Amino acid sequence: MDMSKIYDVIILGGGPAGLSAGLYAGRARMDTLILEKEKEGGLIIQTEEVDNYPGAIEGETGPSLIDKMIDQVNRFHAERVIDTITEVQLEGEIKVLKGKKDSYQAKSVIITTGAKPRLIGCPGETKFIGKGVSYCATCDAAFFEDLEVFVVGGGDTAVEEAIFLTKFARKVNIVHRRDELRAAKSIQEKAFKNEKIHFIWDSQVDEIKGEGLVNGVVIKNRKTGEVTDIKADEEEGLLGVFVFIGYDPMTELFEGILDMEDGYIITDEDMRTNIPGVFAAGDVRKKTLRQVVTAVSDGAIAAVVAEKYLEGMH
Ligand code: NAP
Repeated sequence: MDMSKIYDVIILGGGPAGLSAGLYAGRARMDTLILEKEKEGGLIIQTEEVDNYPGAIEGETGPSLIDKMIDQVNRFHAERVIDTITEVQLEGEIKVLKGKKDSYQAKSVIITTGAKPRLIGCPGETKFIGKGVSYCATCDAAFFEDLEVFVVGGGDTAVEEAIFLTKFARKVNIVHRRDELRAAKSIQEKAFKNEKIHFIWDSQVDEIKGEGLVNGVVIKNRKTGEVTDIKADEEEGLLGVFVFIGYDPMTELFEGILDMEDGYIITDEDMRTNIPGVFAAGDVRKKTLRQVVTAVSDGAIAAVVAEKYLEGMH
């Protein structure tokens, strides 16, 4: 890579918002780089069923939708690089992003870093990640064939993923901190009808136990204070804990630099942040509805407005 190269736009993050921005920027013949730290696709590749994205075919999954978005971006020549950015300099006409492998420069930046799963924060949780604790049913459900699993959370994600887990697990317990779900009514109805799903209301997971793999959870009823030490079925010897209690925006890099609220980047309706030439799009932005459909919309707007910004620079 040519280190002295100055791109028209660097898009930081390769989820739906970033890929959409890349598509629009590429089509506008902007010299475009999409930087992604691991694997393109963002959170949606953890989803088994995408049935609320307009035009999605029946049986569309997160990965199948993302594959099509990547193919489309490739047709319009946005460059794509895997690197983890550790430092940013966003003030001034030339923005600099320093990564673990390289340093990158651009006249404008679109931040689409998205959000990451929130942790329970109880003992045993991080110790057993990948050993019985998971944040992705699509990735890990098959490991729990005919076993018992505990899903923590009561929002759309928790309930949808609980329904998906019933295809594998023997029994799915939803542990929710209140006695009423937050999930959309249509999703709730499906869950209440599913005989494999059980609810543990007003409760929280206080500890995750195991020996190598998870074999127990300690659950506390928040109303009565009663603590239950649940052990895996003796013959099975292990159980799963899937955590879906929301997401936190990935904005650590921009703390003290960009205006934020509750960790989300504040933009105007054209995706502009408080720094000229710096835009934010998708889940990382303060907004009402975090969905693929709004992420791709944000990305398109950000790219078009970035192009206008570049025109104004000359
Ligand atoms: P969410 O809507 O923020 O729900 C988080 C759930 O976890 C809530 O039930 C919350 O309880 C619980 N919770 C939060 N912090 C907790 C903690 N520390 N300990 C225990 N429980 C905790 O998150 P989400 O379900 O991941 O959804 C995120 C966004 O994506 C939402 O806007 C959602 O609508 C959207 N989404 C949409 C779809 C769809 O349209 N099909 C699918 C998935 C996600 P309380 O209810 O008590 O606050």
